[in-house]
Amino acid sequence: MTISNTAPASITLEESATFDRKTIDYIQRAAASGLYEIRGLGAKRRVPHFDDLLFLGASLSRYPLEGYREKCSSKTVLGTRFAKKPVELEMPITIAGMSFGALSANVKEALGRAATEVGTSTTTGDGGMTREERESSKVLVYQCLPSRYGFNPDDVRRADAIEIVIGQGAKPGGGGMLLGQKINPRVAAMRVLPQGVDQRSAARHPDWTGPDDLVIKILDLREITDWKVPIYVKIGATLVFNDVKLAVHAGADVVVVDGMQGGTAATQTTFIENVGIPTLAAVRQAVDALDDLNMKGQVQLIVSGGIRTGADAAKALAMGADAVSIGQGVLFALGCNSESYVQGGQHISALRDYAALGTAPGVCHHCHTGRCPVGVTTQDAVLETRLEPAVGAKRLRNYLRTMNMELTTIARACGKQNVHHLEREDLVALTVEAAAMAGVPLAGTNWIPGRG
Ligand code: SF4
Repeated sequence: MTISNTAPASITLEESATFDRKTIDYIQRAAASGLYEIRGLGAKRRVPHFDDLLFLGASLSRYPLEGYREKCSSKTVLGTRFAKKPVELEMPITIAGMSFGALSANVKEALGRAATEVGTSTTTGDGGMTREERESSKVLVYQCLPSRYGFNPDDVRRADAIEIVIGQGAKPGGGGMLLGQKINPRVAAMRVLPQGVDQRSAARHPDWTGPDDLVIKILDLREITDWKVPIYVKIGATLVFNDVKLAVHAGADVVVVDGMQGGTAATQTTFIENVGIPTLAAVRQAVDALDDLNMKGQVQLIVSGGIRTGADAAKALAMGADAVSIGQGVLFALGCNSESYVQGGQHISALRDYAALGTAPGVCHHCHTGRCPVGVTTQDAVLETRLEPAVGAKRLRNYLRTMNMELTTIARACGKQNVHHLEREDLVALTVEAAAMAGVPLAGTNWIPGRG
């Protein structure tokens, strides 16, 4: 009898839906190394998002504005509740907190320059305020994080707003990480920690055990700043309805809600993909909480986590946000995941450097390595020169301006003279899930799932 090595034609080769190739690869990597994966950027899984919403532009029943003749304002004021000097911006699109350590000093300077040119704000991050970003930013938001790395009262007084970070959308409930390869002498000195050693940032603030301690912290910061600047409270999106209410009760001027699609410089993949709720669901819960407290208009809401375009910003505003914040979009604008970088006016290929990291443009998420091929998330003296502040600032300025033009274009089409007049009635959803999360009707119906 002979035994055939080939399967009979009638047997189909089928990949398991549960244990697909990606899962098998994950299990075998874990089995070989005994380590979990750490990476940068945000969730890659598909979740209901702003793509699942559409605008109802003006038609017979509503009147559109003329694009080139009729103005549509995008001016935005944040922190009107208690601060003597609220933050005044030309657009409702702000730059999210990203740390010096994750980003190079050149990048922090580029963010400040671009934000200043277009009239918006940028934000510090774990590790403190750099001289470059303070000098280049007209409006700088200073973060108070659980780690307190680089946090000091002098810089508090030099800030235009303070943001107390409770959590981040990519890792609510988790702390930060900065791997040793990114801790150069300057980063180490600012954090008062040793060079070249992995650093973990705390998951919760050292001096509080609950919401009542947030009240004390906000009062402390108000006293240091003489009640001049707004105090923001940033939360990772989980129990958003309750958390927003607690932040408002504690005295926040502005609440920042970061959905699960928000980015990170270095976090466990399991955290990024499995913890938190989508931004779409978070916006609705946050707005409901403000409405419930009758604080809409008194406490401003900033939304972040996967905001990419002016249309995303418009949809967030229509749902009730006062502004959005962008992080990963900023990195991509600077050249993240590009095939080349610009140095001395020349485009230079970075393909070999991507390959050396075991990745390629379009799928890179290797910010944690400190070997960023385009010089964005690195502290390496050679690599960081690949992002020249002037080049980065110009690209980011163009991106922010484009987003704002898209936002005002959509607002005009909906008949609004002000982007803040966009409203939920301007939106419909493409899927039942998005309709339920956003609280808007399924397109072509009056049906909002779960609401009668
Ligand atoms: S190109 Fe740089 S910034 Fe972008 S994901 Fe890769 S390492 Fe991170």
